Amino acid sequence: MTERCAICGCQLHRTTGTYARPTPEGHSHASSHHYVAERFFGRSTNRGGQREALFRVCPWEQEGKTAVFCYDCHEELLHNPVLLKQDIFELAELVKRRGLAEDEKTESRDKAARRVEPLHEVIVRGLGAILAEERGG
Ligand SMILES: [Zn+2]
Repeated sequence: MTERCAICGCQLHRTTGTYARPTPEGHSHASSHHYVAERFFGRSTNRGGQREALFRVCPWEQEGKTAVFCYDCHEELLHNPVLLKQDIFELAELVKRRGLAEDEKTESRDKAARRVEPLHEVIVRGLGAILAEERGG
């Protein structure tokens, strides 16, 4: 069975030493990505150490779950979402409206954790709206 990227659908491979090479082979190397970042649970597999957890329980019940992607979809697309000035301005308004803005930081990471949810909601609602439009087209 051919392993394929969960987003673009390209054929993946796991040839040692080719990941991220500037070649079709480098761009199609399989790589696993957590749906909800490990750092939110106080872990970081690629940095070894322990960090402060943002979530004790995953709000989406997806802790530790992963999908497999190509280099392009994982490293370029998923790790670098584009948020322009107006997008940040509107996200800040949403954060304020939901009572998740902060004046001075405290020991609590509660608001920081809860700010992760509206951004995910933007993605869910945006995808839903765009797909409804394109399917109904
Ligand atoms: Zn891909």
